[in-house]
Amino acid sequence: MTIMQNIPKVDRVLEWPAVSAALTRYPRPLVLKAVRTVLDGLRLEACEGALAEIPPAEVIAEHVLRELVLLSTSRLKRVVNGTGVVIHTNLGRSLLAAPVQQALTDVAFSYSNLEFDLEQGERGSRYAHVEKLLCELTGAEAALVVNNNAAAVLLALSALAAGKEVIVSRGELVEIGGSFRIPDVMRQSGALLREVGTTNRTHPRDYREAVSPDTALLLKVHTSNYAVVGFTAEVTAAELVRIGQESSLPVMADVGSGNLVDLSAIGLGSEPPVQEFVRAGVDVVTFSGDKLLGGPQAGIIVGRKALVAPLKKHPLLRALRVDKMTMAALEGTLRLYRDERQALVEIPTLRMLALSAAELEARGRSLLRRLRRAAPASVTFTVSRGFSQVGGGAFPLVQLPTTLLAVGSGHATPEALEKALRAAPVPVIGRIWRDALLLDLRTIQDDDVPALIAALRALPAALGAGEADR
Ligand SMILES: *Cc1c(COP(=O)(O)O)cnc(C)c1O
Repeated sequence: MTIMQNIPKVDRVLEWPAVSAALTRYPRPLVLKAVRTVLDGLRLEACEGALAEIPPAEVIAEHVLRELVLLSTSRLKRVVNGTGVVIHTNLGRSLLAAPVQQALTDVAFSYSNLEFDLEQGERGSRYAHVEKLLCELTGAEAALVVNNNAAAVLLALSALAAGKEVIVSRGELVEIGGSFRIPDVMRQSGALLREVGTTNRTHPRDYREAVSPDTALLLKVHTSNYAVVGFTAEVTAAELVRIGQESSLPVMADVGSGNLVDLSAIGLGSEPPVQEFVRAGVDVVTFSGDKLLGGPQAGIIVGRKALVAPLKKHPLLRALRVDKMTMAALEGTLRLYRDERQALVEIPTLRMLALSAAELEARGRSLLRRLRRAAPASVTFTVSRGFSQVGGGAFPLVQLPTTLLAVGSGHATPEALEKALRAAPVPVIGRIWRDALLLDLRTIQDDDVPALIAALRALPAALGAGEADR
């Protein structure tokens, strides 16, 4: 008999006590799928000549149970962010503020007045719920919300400049995260890009000379994720507004992150808040909901009524519209901004950015005590100082002083440690620097600590399994 013929049949595996017991906890089709996956794996190994003998029933059953756990847990899950990048796009950008939770639950699990005007008893606008609040907070006349800032820029360009020219400085032709590039979004909208100036210097006269009967818009784009330094010149929003007024052209600004509070209070002073662009007379301002604002993924558009109105009527809006959960989370987040001090305390993104070196050091000491008590003796910790980043394409040059925890275990390499923590039930994501696996305390939440302890407890076993795999 060949080894292939000795691989047990599905029906037999289902009769093994460990597997049949699983039928009481998992739906039968899922158990079947798990058994087939494991047996297919064995057959493949046998085909390749990599299977010397059939593993014992207990081992196969264990693989089936592990497969079942994988099949029945959510793929999209919570992780512990130990990277120190506060607005980490790969890890979901901003955490919502606690007060938002109730608002989110209310609309998600009940009917709501999403598009129903409770006063008039008739159809209403889904945008009305946040428009007033956005106008109140930014000083703008009108507001609109779409899926993300990329959608906001696409919609605004489509509605205001399709078939016409948009003037942009060569120093502001940004690419964000590989998929948002100003020239590409421009092409997609049907607007024609008219580049002016040079990479490092653009002057008011560059815009003035480029204005023609074909011009529809002057656009300013925030250079979110890079900095041009040295011999540079940039036309400010206020200057651009003046140039726009001379030729009766509207001015739009994609300000990227879009903060609503003055961040100089927490040492981040170089990005003017949205209100300043509105006050300077910029006609349309777009920004993200989940970067410095600390809300859900959204693209926010504020500006003059006459210019936001065509956006509200544009057919693209239907394709870019946000759902009720985004609306609830955004309204809840924006409400917190009515009190700037409350916003800095309650909005996790701002709270994490505001943590001082001394607070992080104290947090490091207390965490170290807890971890030393709870983690296995073979796991070692070293505390050091370092720097965290804002992330999300904001303040690319800012380095926030922080406290780092280096995790070690015997002779395990940082790569092995990183992999083992990443495989924990609640994965812990760290970063490797100078041959150490580091966890940055700035982005680790208080309620992450139990998950962190669980991952550290499982570390010796996980590292052992890694050895055996090799
Ligand atoms: C981040 C960013 C975008 C894209 O915003 P999303 O909300 O991720 O779509 C566009 N423009 C600028 C300047 C940005 O910083």
